[in-house]
Amino acid sequence: MTEEIQSKKNQHPADGQQRVVIVGGGLAGLSAATALLGRGVSVDLIESRRQCGGRAASFEDSEDGSLVDACQHVAMGCCTNFLDLCEQTGLGRFLRRDRTLWFIGPDGSRSACTPATWVPAPLHLVPLLFGMNHFSFLEKAALAWGMVRLAVRQKMSDGDTELTAAQWLHSRQPERVIQLFWQPVIESALGESIDLVGISAVRKVVVDGFLAHPKAADLLVPTEPLGEIFGEKLVAWLRGQGVAVHSGRAVTGIQYDESGKATGVVCGQDLVVADAVVLAVPWRAAKRLVPKLLPPVDESFVGSPITAVHLWFDQKIFDLPHAVLVGRVSQWIFQGEEENSVSSEKSCRAPAKEVEHHCQVVISASRGICDGDRNELLETVVNELQEIFPKARGARLMRSRIVTDPTAVLSVRPGIESVRPHATTPVENLFLAGDWTQTGWPSTMEGAVRSGRQAATQLLKMTDMKAECVVKDLHKNAFIRLLVGQ
Ligand SMILES: Cc1cc2nc3c(=O)[nH]c(=O)nc-3n(C[C@H](O)[C@H](O)[C@H](O)COP(=O)(O)OP(=O)(O)OC[C@H]3O[C@@H](n4cnc5c(N)ncnc54)[C@H](O)[C@@H]3O)c2cc1C
Repeated sequence: MTEEIQSKKNQHPADGQQRVVIVGGGLAGLSAATALLGRGVSVDLIESRRQCGGRAASFEDSEDGSLVDACQHVAMGCCTNFLDLCEQTGLGRFLRRDRTLWFIGPDGSRSACTPATWVPAPLHLVPLLFGMNHFSFLEKAALAWGMVRLAVRQKMSDGDTELTAAQWLHSRQPERVIQLFWQPVIESALGESIDLVGISAVRKVVVDGFLAHPKAADLLVPTEPLGEIFGEKLVAWLRGQGVAVHSGRAVTGIQYDESGKATGVVCGQDLVVADAVVLAVPWRAAKRLVPKLLPPVDESFVGSPITAVHLWFDQKIFDLPHAVLVGRVSQWIFQGEEENSVSSEKSCRAPAKEVEHHCQVVISASRGICDGDRNELLETVVNELQEIFPKARGARLMRSRIVTDPTAVLSVRPGIESVRPHATTPVENLFLAGDWTQTGWPSTMEGAVRSGRQAATQLLKMTDMKAECVVKDLHKNAFIRLLVGQ
């Protein structure tokens, strides 16, 4: 046990403050801790891994020791709570805002799609949708109409059963538009196949991520490794604000008194006392810790895999910040940051060492792909890049690494919203957070941050300190509100 936690266990803060213990140092736990600052409570955050950040994590590159994200994460302009957290903690400067979305069609044609800022929503989408060179005019019109139909809540269920995205789309959108827009966009936004996701989750992406506001579809791309942004900088910031962060400590149980109130958490042999507990761990860990407080997790919660293919070439193979590769196995490609590209040269004292250029291909809903032959997948991805980018044909692949998280995100299948648990539980001082809880958002960084803030809001309500910690969505104009029925 760390010295700090040792000295604090079994005792309340000297000034009589309420003691809150947060279990789990992913974005949900870190956001709950941030939301509780300045509210007159003392906060201990306990994380089982050596580093906080959870799934928004990086690994140490075996070649030069630099940090590489296990998988590229991006947020969108509509992720108001995630962006607010980054601004509040000084991390906003490590996010780059790409207003232009680059699409590369099946024929290799490039489209620079930039939403307009000078027209009211939803007209801002005209240059984005009509800028896609791989679609005919009629296909673009069908896509725009499809978005509007979805937004106005067309029939979303068949009897009592919510339709999947594929079921909804197949009778309403041209096949090419499904394959070259809906499939890549839905799969990357929700991390799950269009055959499995519920249509209401897709509606959320369309309304909040595209139609709602001219800045909604902006892409926010981290410019530093996630492990550095969240695992180091955010944790250092929290510690500076008085939060006690204990990493490398797994919580193995929750302690209750006779009335059923939580009194602390068990960390191996030790009990850390608490007036309130926020459990911000993934659903499997939550099931182990509080099985009776959860819905039937095994039946309802399924994870969806995401695969990142890391490639180090001897030269830069493309000149865009990112690109959506439609109609291919590779779905997105991200340029390594310039600094990352040269870091191997910088860190290597031996002058003979060659410069490596890192890029990353991301494949969401990679079920089937990640179970197969890795060399085959690598070959497919490299061949696709060579078809698209002339420079890739002359480049030498120096090394590669394939990273798959088999349960990267919660699969938002039809009906899942009714089972995702709320922040409050039957135990009045025990709260749930995590991207799998009821946030109204898919399993994303925004969902995780919201969940932490929701738990903090409920916790403060319990202590009679009313505070709404969740910030509002981007402003929707009157026309959008009318369109979506809000
Ligand atoms: C490959 C991949 C790609 C993704 N891409 C994107 C993206 O582009 N954009 C996006 O918005 N989101 C993306 N996500 C999703 C995003 O990473 C998650 O939604 C978010 O990080 C979840 O945060 P969380 O705090 O809810 O859970 P986690 O990050 O899972 O955090 C839970 C923490 O609890 C800790 N813990 C577990 N058990 C215990 C215990 N007993 N005691 C103490 N600690 C414990 C864990 O170690 C972990 O640190 C991606 C996820 C993956 C895996």
